[in-house]
This record gives sequence, C-alpha cells and structure tokens, in this order.
Amino acid sequence: MIRSSILLMLTLITLKMTAQQQYDSFFKDSTLRMDLVLAGNDKTMQVYLHEYSKSEGWAGRRNNLNKQQNLGNGLAVMRDASTGEIIYSTVFCALFAEWQATDEAKEVQKAFQQVLLFPFPKKNAVITIDFRGYDGIYQTYLKAPVNPNDILIRPKSITSYKKEVIQKHGSTDECVDIVYVAEGYTEAEQDKFFHDARRLNSDLFAHEPFDKLKKKFNVTAVAAVSSESGTSYPGKGVWKSTLLNAHYDTFYSSRYLMSNQMTAINDAVAGIPYEQIIVVVNTPVYGGGGIFNSHTMISADDKQSNIIVVHEFAHAFAGLADEYYYPGDVMENFYNKKIEPWEENITTLVDFDRKWKDMLPNDATIPTKFSENSKLELGVYEGGGYATFGIYRSMQDCRMNTNKAKTFCPVCQRALIRVVDYLTK
Ligand SMILES: [Zn+2]
Repeated sequence: MIRSSILLMLTLITLKMTAQQQYDSFFKDSTLRMDLVLAGNDKTMQVYLHEYSKSEGWAGRRNNLNKQQNLGNGLAVMRDASTGEIIYSTVFCALFAEWQATDEAKEVQKAFQQVLLFPFPKKNAVITIDFRGYDGIYQTYLKAPVNPNDILIRPKSITSYKKEVIQKHGSTDECVDIVYVAEGYTEAEQDKFFHDARRLNSDLFAHEPFDKLKKKFNVTAVAAVSSESGTSYPGKGVWKSTLLNAHYDTFYSSRYLMSNQMTAINDAVAGIPYEQIIVVVNTPVYGGGGIFNSHTMISADDKQSNIIVVHEFAHAFAGLADEYYYPGDVMENFYNKKIEPWEENITTLVDFDRKWKDMLPNDATIPTKFSENSKLELGVYEGGGYATFGIYRSMQDCRMNTNKAKTFCPVCQRALIRVVDYLTK
C-alpha cells in the first residue's frame, strides 16, 4: 500500500516536471494577449487581428498544453511556425455568435471585440482561429503569425487600481485564477465593491461542486473606478458613464446585462493573474450573462445575485448550456437538432454516447417520462437549450434551468469538475 502510493507520488512528480519542461521549451513566463474584432451579420463572419500585447506572468495551464477540449464554438490553436507542431490551444465562445442569432443580424453588419490569452511563445508561432458553423464543422477564419520579437507587441503594465486577494490556495498552475472587477463603482465606492466581491465569492464557493473545489481556485478583486455610479438601462433612457460600458437590454433583451468592451475589461485587470473574469456591476436590478472563456457579468445587489453568479459563471467556466425552455422562445432554433451539441449538459440524442449515457443504468428508458417520482432521478428529459422539443436535459431541475433549483444536476457537476481537472492536473 505504502509502496504503491510512493510510486504514484513519484509518477505524479515526474509528470508535473515533464509538463513544466514542455512549457519551458516553448514559452516564456508571460502572457500574449490577442485582441480580435469579429464582424459580420447573420450569415457571414470575418475575424480581424486588432493588436497583440504582452504582460508578465502566465496564469493559465502549463499541462495539457496541446490537448484540446471539445467545448466552445471557437477554437484557437497556436503552432510552432517552423515545425507546425501544436504547442497550445484554447476554446471559447463569442458574444458576436449569440448576436448572429438575433433579428438585428439579418438587417445590419456589426463588429464585436474578443480577447484571447496565450502563453508567450519563445519562437515564431502561428495562431489559427476557427469557429463551428451551424453544422458543427470548424472553419478557419484567421491565420495570424506571432513574432515574439515584434516591436509592435505592446507591453502592458500591471493595473494601477486597488486590489485585494480574496483567496489564495496555490501557484497559478496548480489553481484556477479568477479575478472580480468593478463596473459602475466610483472612487468613493471601492470598499463597497470589495465587500460585494467577497460576498459573491462566498456565494459561489458555498455552492456544489465549487464548495469541494475551493482549494483549486485563487481569487483576486480589482476595484476599477468609474466616473459615475450604477449602470445603463437603455430601455428606461438611462445612460451612465462607466469604465466598462455595461448595460441592460443587450440584443434588446431587458435582463441581458453585458458589455462588448472586452479590451477595456481585460485592460482593467492587466497584469493580475487571471483565467476567468467576473465583472460585478453596481446595480440592484436582476441581470447578467456569461460567455464561455470570455467573461461573466452579474448585478451586485439583486436579491438573487447569490444564485445568478453561480449560473453565469458555469456558462463562462465550463460552457454549460441553459437547460430552460419556453414554448415559442425566440431562441427555439439556437441549437441545430440534427447534430449533437458540444455542451455537456444537453443532448439531441444524435450522439448520446458522448454525453451522460455512462451515468445511467443499462435499462434506462430514453427519453425518460416526467413524473413526481422522477423529480430527482437522472434521466433524459425533453426540453432544454431554449427548445421544448428535440433537446434533452438530464434532470427535471438544475442550476442551469431555474433559480429555484437547489444545485447543479450531476451531469453539470461532472462537467465543472472535468474543467477544473483539465486546468490544474
Ligand atoms: Zn444541469
């Protein structure tokens, strides 16, 4: 017993060393930030490189460097320019892609900002940006060279805003690094922001499975300063001058609190080790949003903010889908029912083997009938991903379905744990 655990420990140490050596042979201990512009309409998309910048330190993973997660609509791959070897990849979603499903996108071409982070390469590299189409197939939209000695890569110094470490449990590669950033807080409201960030963070880590994973996360808060307090409500004709330009009524949906200013958001936390950004908006009105590997945005003082932060962070951290649906929802056809969606917590049953089939008993009835008795039973229930028919979820209720749910369904929990493992093991 003792011998085998020593052996296991030695193997783990060796693996860790190999990962570090692999990292060191390709990358510096710095971050390459790639600012992009995504533009187009409901049918077309163009991706442009806006700017590269560099900051000290790398908060992302140093293991699984070329191991791709099958998540997200977007895929960014960095290759060594001389050998073509994949040295890093990352997956993400874009607010632009959500906008493409709106009626406005049928009428006009618009541009959105996107920011991606990479470890800073030691040698010349090439980054490709791919997006899945409605058919689920990837297409390349940008191929951008990176010359690490390029004089136009802008150095970013550490943000000058006041910071507070909320929790620190290990090095940046042992832990996932979250940063909370203030939006709509004036200079005089910095203490309120730190208080709000600590409160929301306690809410997040009181929730399963984050409660058991707390030691895998480092958390910092940055009190970015806005000239006005609060946020904008375009539907009420209220506009505020705030640092990150957050507002309700995103895509004309009243509760959708978002910002398209990804450059400003990332600038506000520059130099702080971060992999996930949670923007805390100084408002008591219900709202928020979460874009996978881009950012989470939440209202600070709504009475349900303690729940919204968990739901939206699950979008941003693990790309979990909304499990809710309403008859006649305008988003009814957001997912293509002819293919299996990449989101781990919904299925079209096109390729259910890839989803939670392994968690069900062999004799499980698929799909599962609703009943009072099956309320807490894992199954395959019709309705999810905004669609009443043709998309299925694993439990009648879940944090990704309603605010009344007590916790995440086991499928969502497994997906969240998998991402933590991927980033830290
Ligand atoms: Zn779920």
